[in-house]
Amino acid sequence: MIAHIFENRCTGCHSCVAACPTHVFDAGEGGVPVIARIDQCQTCYMCELYCEADAIYVDPDQHAAATIAPEAILEAGHAGRLRHDYGWDRPPDPDRGHLSDFWRLGPLLREGAEIAARRHALKRAQA
Ligand code: SF4
Ligand code: SF4
Repeated sequence: MIAHIFENRCTGCHSCVAACPTHVFDAGEGGVPVIARIDQCQTCYMCELYCEADAIYVDPDQHAAATIAPEAILEAGHAGRLRHDYGWDRPPDPDRGHLSDFWRLGPLLREGAEIAARRHALKRAQA
């Protein structure tokens, strides 16, 4: 689940707002996005991957908000680590490309789709 946006790193590009498939963010005044709907976070990591400023940390716990302190996230080098590990900070390799490693996120994205489908079914049942 998304844990933190580091305002001092954020450039206000809003790539995270555009990338989030479940509309967790509001654009926010002054450029820094606001985590407005954390309950809709499916821990897909798209916001962290698309944040070129390494200003976002998504915690791997899908079911509860992270309790790790922002200072500890930075100290451990967690912010943006996924983006670096996946090679999104490097120019595309003409033979491989960034998407060559993206399959590793498949199970997470599939679970996100299943969560969305369950929510949709629940809403329809309650209507
Ligand atoms: S992608 Fe990163 S730098 Fe851009 S608005 Fe979001 S948090 Fe800020
Ligand atoms: S982890 Fe995915 S669902 Fe959660 S805020 Fe980031 S982009 Fe949105």
